[in-house]
Amino acid sequence: MPGQMNVLSVASEVFPLVKTGGLADVVGALPAALKPHGIAMRVLVPGYPAVMAALAKGRQVHGYADLFGGAARILLGVVHGMEIMALEAAHLYDRPGNPYVGPDGRDWPDNAIRFAALSTVAADIGRGALKTWTPDILHLHDWQAALAAVDVRHRGGPRTVVTVHNIAFQGQFPASVFPRLGLPAAAYSIEGLEYYGNVGFLKGGLAAADAITTVSPTYAREICTPEFGMGLDGLLRARRHNTHGIVNGIDTAIWNPADDKALVSSFTARTLAKRRDNKREMEKRFGLEKDDGILHGVVSRLTWQKGLDILASQLDWLVASGARLAIVGTGEPGIEGAFATAAQRHKGRVAIVMKYDEALSHLVQGGADTMLVPSRFEPCGLTQLYGLRYGCVPVVARTGGLADTVIDANEAALAAGVATGFQFSPVDEPSLQNALQRAGNMFADAPQWTKMQVNGMAADVSWDRSAKHYADLYKQLKG
Ligand code: ADP
Repeated sequence: MPGQMNVLSVASEVFPLVKTGGLADVVGALPAALKPHGIAMRVLVPGYPAVMAALAKGRQVHGYADLFGGAARILLGVVHGMEIMALEAAHLYDRPGNPYVGPDGRDWPDNAIRFAALSTVAADIGRGALKTWTPDILHLHDWQAALAAVDVRHRGGPRTVVTVHNIAFQGQFPASVFPRLGLPAAAYSIEGLEYYGNVGFLKGGLAAADAITTVSPTYAREICTPEFGMGLDGLLRARRHNTHGIVNGIDTAIWNPADDKALVSSFTARTLAKRRDNKREMEKRFGLEKDDGILHGVVSRLTWQKGLDILASQLDWLVASGARLAIVGTGEPGIEGAFATAAQRHKGRVAIVMKYDEALSHLVQGGADTMLVPSRFEPCGLTQLYGLRYGCVPVVARTGGLADTVIDANEAALAAGVATGFQFSPVDEPSLQNALQRAGNMFADAPQWTKMQVNGMAADVSWDRSAKHYADLYKQLKG
């Protein structure tokens, strides 16, 4: 195609092959979203077992006799319409479980090397290693890929974009790993990888990238402050003219309430009553009492970031107010325990399914009345976007992408008929309680509630607009 650009997207996760969070959804959705904009995007991911299984028929496009201590090769294949390049390196990635942690729940001790290898290969591809396909841009996601920008800065290669999906994850390692990263000595400097005497993968990438993006305009501003910048705010302030906040979209084919196999009843904005069937199914699956009152839903990692400890502390009140709560999620033992105890105490009113269950997450979106997202910080957040699309009204903290994507049901928005959910701030018990109360009151007003659901379902949460932002940025960088 004339004017077509090649972009290599590099990440540690890609839906549907390997997913621990929103990063995978974004990386998996971008290639199709960018295609109409003349961008041919390939995705480079580590060859974890699930990736290698999907690429069993892949074609080798490059090989290494020794990549950080073992043989490696790059396999190219098409998975779900996406051109995926898997970095097969058994000594680094052929391991069970999660991409980052071993069965004992601890980080793999060689994570620095595992992701330095991914970054090295990305930079090599950027410099033409594949011969038949060379990217015009390297799009590097999070710390696991950020080192490629450092590599390119020192050794040459195409323009680079580093996207921050969550600045809490920075890839910091002791300075002693530096000699094993395969980078020139000059890369370990205050302007480069050095970070308070350690090596900072994300820090180095942010300093070296031609452009930085993050996943919402509000988060782009927030991370320039000490409160949200997690130590990188100074660097980000210095680079703010090269930083762009581009809100994530969702894959509207996978998340389509009108055609979703994970639901008992698919529905549209005109057939919202069918959501009741999904609610009944949720009650069965979660062991909740049958009830037409408000049912709150949570689909989340159970971590401090997500503010769910605050929700856990409100459950006696919540149940006394007549509401019910269904949670699907796993995470910190303290928060898991708090919900498990509450589920015991309030049998039939509060329930938690403690596992990662993609299908169940769809059912919650299609059956619960609200999607609660009380995050202390939230770069973009996807579950509130799925909530909007599924008529599952978001109740969210006013931070990051949550602030940018949900229209609070305040008087002005209600008068204008544009409200799509509830926002609250600060993230503490009283304001969460207040938001839940507001949601409960509005739920009792069926026409108002339906109006909010319909507004949410009409909101554009697709990739259309955001994909154009990325495409424009790539084009601007290529010049
Ligand atoms: P984060 O990436 O910080 O975890 P996001 O809201 O951006 O948060 O994305 C979370 C993604 O992970 C969503 O697609 C959500 O549906 C999914 N998810 C989280 N926990 C679970 C779970 N226990 N089961 C199924 N999906 C989950």
